[in-house]
Amino acid sequence: MHQLRQDRTTKEWVIIAAERSKRPHSFRNVSKPPSEKPLYQIDCPFCGGNEHLTPHETLAYRLGGAPDSRGWWVRAVPNKFPALSPEGSLERKEEKGFFRMMDGVGVHEVVIETPAHNQLLSLMDDKQVEEILVAYRERYNAIREDPRIKLIIIFKNYGEAAGTSLEHPHSQLVGTPIVPSNIRRKLEEAARYYDDHGCCVYCDVIEEELSAENRIVMDTEKFVVFQPFASRFPFETWIVPKTHQASFGLISMQDSKTFAKVLKETLFKLYSKLNDPDYNFVIHTSPIRDEMEDYYHWHLQIIPRLTTPAGFEMGSGIHINVAFPEETADFLKKE
Ligand SMILES: [Zn+2]
Ligand SMILES: [Zn+2]
Repeated sequence: MHQLRQDRTTKEWVIIAAERSKRPHSFRNVSKPPSEKPLYQIDCPFCGGNEHLTPHETLAYRLGGAPDSRGWWVRAVPNKFPALSPEGSLERKEEKGFFRMMDGVGVHEVVIETPAHNQLLSLMDDKQVEEILVAYRERYNAIREDPRIKLIIIFKNYGEAAGTSLEHPHSQLVGTPIVPSNIRRKLEEAARYYDDHGCCVYCDVIEEELSAENRIVMDTEKFVVFQPFASRFPFETWIVPKTHQASFGLISMQDSKTFAKVLKETLFKLYSKLNDPDYNFVIHTSPIRDEMEDYYHWHLQIIPRLTTPAGFEMGSGIHINVAFPEETADFLKKE
């Protein structure tokens, strides 16, 4: 029997297609050859030594040395081809009283995760991943100072199927001048749940997933890693902090280091069990204005790109997942 399952955080339905369902090991990428990238590539703007190929840095962790020089281990720079740019105002205009537009104002930065071209986030040492997460936190808190920015999205595209354009390890932050409607729906659902139940839906999800046990990938003192009941994609994995906190920007320095360790370990599990799959991850966090509100709870979602959503998904918004999260979580958890 197929099953329709509902995500309580969004009210989105998914179909878990039992008859089409694939065994977890069949998602393993068997044809991928071992990565043979060079340590340094002469035309790569993110490689150490090529600092002149990027716009001026907004952050760098290095011991001494001038800005935009070599010697850093994590560096952030404005995106050379930004989706949104800092110039402009929030004024909305209407053409013929109907077509609405505004300046494409915003911030788009890249966090270069390492000067080495051929490293992978899933294989870096814990200390390096910590530094990357500390950089996310620092840039998040700097970008939020711009009063035009309403929401900051931190994400990573890894591999061609995930839409990456440069293979050098990097992640991105985009600050938008609006709260887009699908995020608004997620926030509204969390607010409605909070009104109805007097508690946070994500805190309840953690509690229920922990008590169900069979979709948990990792349970640590500060974070829970699981594949949600209504997973939209095979191996969709969430990392949720146990501390109720609306915004990633409020994470303590200590917790961001713990978060790094858990993220790295989760990515490593996916890497080793699925043979280096392409993936996206996104940190979902409250709009700047609602950071001190109680209804929301920041979290990270990892979506390995193992299947391609098609017409039905586009037309209905209902995802068809061909794997049971209970089985994939179990597969991932095994040593
Ligand atoms: Zn490079
Ligand atoms: Zn919560």
